[in-house]
Amino acid sequence: MKSFDRRLAPALFLCALALSACAEKRPSAGTPSSRDAMPSVAPRPVEPPSPVAIPPVTPEAVALLDSPPTVRVLVLESRGTIRLRVPGAYAVGDDAGGSAARMERGGELSVRASDGEVVLAEGRRRVFASRRIFVAPVDGGFVSVDGASYRGGFLFVASRGGVAAINILDVDEYLKGVLPSEIGYLKDAQYEAFRAQAIAARSYALSKLDEKRGEIYDLNATVMDQVYRGASSESEAGNRAVEETRGLVCTFLGEPARAYYCSCCGGHTADIRAVWPWKTPYPYLYGVRDTVPGTAGESLCRGSRHFRWRAHWSASTLGAVLQRTIPRELRASAGDVGKPLDVRTLGVGRDGRVLGLEIETDRESFTVQGDRIRWVLKPDPGSDAILRSTLFNMDVSRAGGRVASVDVLGGGNGHGVGMCQTGAIRMAELGYRGEDIIAHYYHGTRIVTLYR
Ligand SMILES: [Zn+2]
Repeated sequence: MKSFDRRLAPALFLCALALSACAEKRPSAGTPSSRDAMPSVAPRPVEPPSPVAIPPVTPEAVALLDSPPTVRVLVLESRGTIRLRVPGAYAVGDDAGGSAARMERGGELSVRASDGEVVLAEGRRRVFASRRIFVAPVDGGFVSVDGASYRGGFLFVASRGGVAAINILDVDEYLKGVLPSEIGYLKDAQYEAFRAQAIAARSYALSKLDEKRGEIYDLNATVMDQVYRGASSESEAGNRAVEETRGLVCTFLGEPARAYYCSCCGGHTADIRAVWPWKTPYPYLYGVRDTVPGTAGESLCRGSRHFRWRAHWSASTLGAVLQRTIPRELRASAGDVGKPLDVRTLGVGRDGRVLGLEIETDRESFTVQGDRIRWVLKPDPGSDAILRSTLFNMDVSRAGGRVASVDVLGGGNGHGVGMCQTGAIRMAELGYRGEDIIAHYYHGTRIVTLYR
């Protein structure tokens, strides 16, 4: 077992001992039922439907930390001046773990970079200057950074000519600011999806700590990791779900699982090897058929407006899209892109997703793999929107030796890896618990209680 972040090491070592036989095998997933299948073009080379019964899941109390691990979340980057408001007395020092001075009066402050240092000021008066500045309220309360309020403290670091703001707080405080941004504000009948989201987001966050140990932050507050908007975005039900699942972590072989999740899987969650062949292929991310017994094989997320969608490119639209996206995504010079002659898919994974795309133009041939297809084959040259997913069938019309038009019938929204949030919400409505939802989407994992 590799070494872990010191914030997790003792508990995870004991987890690993307790979970030595945890990689249970479950029947693999099948194909969308005929009701949900993509209606046109060729059928997919997939297995027959085999929804599996979900055994009841009871979290194991295997090892306990006394308190939640701390996470460091990059909230702002390269800012000229950051507005900071601290509710009362606060501690200020040059590191989160170092010695700090107590300042009796908070209020409106500012943080800016100056000659390689970070300067904390009240009006024109310098309060503190250092290469790094850590600020935390002494008596609790929320810190306001550029108008948004946050739990915990902040580390300000000079970066790229400006200042970066890193929120330092315990993982459960962080999760309260993640849930509403990632799964929305749910109805009472959907509450268990909040609990599943809390467990998944907690596991994902803790899975990053080890690899980020040598860096100045663990998590980005954007879709790069998990969208986090601080205390300003919290909801009562989301906070309750975080508190009720306190310490519960989805693990694989004793490590917190890299529990990715997405908006709508289109009927089958993605095989990480198909969409992100450059990332670690954890076996609990090989994809599952998104259905449960008792639903006649219907996909759990079929009610989503993203479940099936269409996209169309005329030859000129396709040319305009590729002229923008190929230089950016494939590092080609704009002059080499040329006019599209042909577009071909390069195989389909067992999860139904397109593995790659080959684009032939009158200048060059370009290949794009996995999820990057969504950034290259954008639906509209004038918009930043990317293709909703790589679960699609493509129909190319050709005339005069070149592409005349491209039609795509697609399914789902997002990368498709891990928990399908729309499916999780449906499972909650059907009476499944958060733990059952985790077991459905992350096969072979086990939920443990990591801290008190
Ligand atoms: Zn789904």
